[in-house]
Amino acid sequence: MKPKRIEILGIPVDCVTMDEAVDWAESMIHGRQPCTVLAVNPEKIIRAQQDRELLDQLRSADLLIPDGIGVVLAARLLGLGHAERVPGSELMPQLCERAASKGYTVFLFGASTAVNQQAVAVLRDRYPGIRIVGSQHGYVKKEEMPSLVARINECQPDLLFVALGSPHQELWMSRYLPQLKVKVCQGVGGTFDVIAGRVRRAPKFFRSLHLEWFYRLTSNPGRLRRQTALPIFAYRILKERFIRAA
Ligand code: UDP
Repeated sequence: MKPKRIEILGIPVDCVTMDEAVDWAESMIHGRQPCTVLAVNPEKIIRAQQDRELLDQLRSADLLIPDGIGVVLAARLLGLGHAERVPGSELMPQLCERAASKGYTVFLFGASTAVNQQAVAVLRDRYPGIRIVGSQHGYVKKEEMPSLVARINECQPDLLFVALGSPHQELWMSRYLPQLKVKVCQGVGGTFDVIAGRVRRAPKFFRSLHLEWFYRLTSNPGRLRRQTALPIFAYRILKERFIRAA
């Protein structure tokens, strides 16, 4: 079943729950065309206002998950409907769990060599029997891409996870996916770092208050510049709300 699609500041978002997203991805594994899953968060929404390529890639994705509380609250404030948080970093492990239980094959592309290998090891340990048929670090030169595409196509994975960060991974997917024999491709940003234990998720306390973004910001001030998108996003959402109410 196709989930309800809404638009936040012109960017599409699908109102799915985590279970629906996993079931949807599984149904796509049995389809013919490669499908894309991308996460939508305030930072990406603001960036896509000025980045036409990113905007096009978001618009052409098959499933756009509401990645954080910002998107969920915006949907509510604008009266667009009920969205639930489906973080990309949680969807990937859920898909791996499903893959392990059903025998679907997985390929991990992205992050540093050490992080990539560690993520493979952690997933094998966490989901016994998972069929990880290939992996590749994310610092591949342009001229080496054809051989990576060939290698992925030899493996023909059901699930391809791409962890190059945004918007790099979205652009990579739009460029190379048409050549790839995969079923579902999810852009997962820094998720391999989380799985490998290099980046800690926020403690439960912060997560329960939907303040994971705040924890990440204070524990890694280097992200501050990127997070300037948050107040801009909040301002634009409130402005849009007043325009709609007028
Ligand atoms: N990365 C990569 N190749 C690149 C640039 C980045 O594999 O050319 C990886 C990087 O090592 C890290 C991830 O992409 O694992 C980016 O994580 P970040 O948290 O910045 O992504 P976000 O989730 O914020 O988009």
